[in-house]
Amino acid sequence: MPLPPGATAPTLPTMRDPAPLIDPFGRAITYLRVSVTDRCDLRCVYCMAEDMTFLPKAEILSLEELDRLCGAFVALGTRKIRLTGGEPLVRRDVMTLFRSLGARLGTGLDELTLTSNGTQLGRFASELYAAGVRRINVSLDTLSAEKFAAITRWGRIEKTLDGIHAAKAAGLAIKINAVALKGVNDDEFDDMIAWCGEHGFDLCLIETMPLGDIDGDRTDQYLPLSIVRSRLRRRWTLEETDYQTGGPARYYTVAETGRRVGFITPLTHNFCESCNRVRLTCTGTLYMCLGQEDAADFRGVLRAGADEAELADAIRAAIARKPRGHDFIIDRRHERPALARHMSVTGG
Ligand code: SAM
Ligand code: SF4
Repeated sequence: MPLPPGATAPTLPTMRDPAPLIDPFGRAITYLRVSVTDRCDLRCVYCMAEDMTFLPKAEILSLEELDRLCGAFVALGTRKIRLTGGEPLVRRDVMTLFRSLGARLGTGLDELTLTSNGTQLGRFASELYAAGVRRINVSLDTLSAEKFAAITRWGRIEKTLDGIHAAKAAGLAIKINAVALKGVNDDEFDDMIAWCGEHGFDLCLIETMPLGDIDGDRTDQYLPLSIVRSRLRRRWTLEETDYQTGGPARYYTVAETGRRVGFITPLTHNFCESCNRVRLTCTGTLYMCLGQEDAADFRGVLRAGADEAELADAIRAAIARKPRGHDFIIDRRHERPALARHMSVTGG
């Protein structure tokens, strides 16, 4: 219909791809986790063997390739990107990737974040903030220096704590991630809730997942968080909340501290129905599900010289294969082996 005299045409919103990524089960895929390196300066017992062999450099996507791939996802509706690893902050020049991705904030991308072991945050916290990062996850399984050294094999707790405090001082909101390990840190969760409350951090407890060969036996480490939650309720008032980060965690507000505590329970509770994410490894392999083997290779696509339209088609084709969910089992009666890849490859 013609516009009445004097009227101006409404400005069209900036168009991204008109068909955002919807998987076969109707889930919109808006969250991309990117493992930027498989390397790490620690050797957490549940994550890696001590003599871990890392990938040759030629197999790893360059920072430019990672940026291009992330840009293609953003053009297709990705609103949140988390960089992880390995330890993302040990990759050389990784700040250039943070800066180039940060420049996409507000033009399709809503959030850029990272998961880190904290050892390099003293160096990088301010630069991360300047690149547009506002919230980070830092992994810290214990407040005891001895246990920290035993869990991480090579770590010193002071360095991670200094990093956490530097991040707070730089203005970053912090969530502490702790893997619940039976007989190791299960006597500490009350203290960790109190400590997080004191410093203004949220806390997220994670069940161990059967990913990658490690030196020990995982059935010894597995601790169902349903048990942890009931124990915590003896001391803390856990108020139900509908807070969501687009992730699999179930959150409660701790009335006494005002901070949140979350539980990621891939084994006792299946979180797949609301899954909005896919994971890209540092070699350009896209895993549509953390707990399944099916994957799509993007390094080949990129290095074959794909243009933007071909890249977008390859992404859509991968999302069309996203499975309904995972089927992790850690149980002596089920002899199902762990998935061969490590969390440090897929990105936690
Ligand atoms: N290096 C960074 C860090 O530790 O935060 C990022 C990568 S790490 C693989 C990401 C998260 O995965 C960490 O919180 C770590 O504790 C967790 N993680 C590693 N292996 C795991 C496993 N087998 N089960 C559950 N969580 C695991
Ligand atoms: Fe490194 Fe993170 Fe794995 Fe620990 S959990 S070994 S810090 S990648």
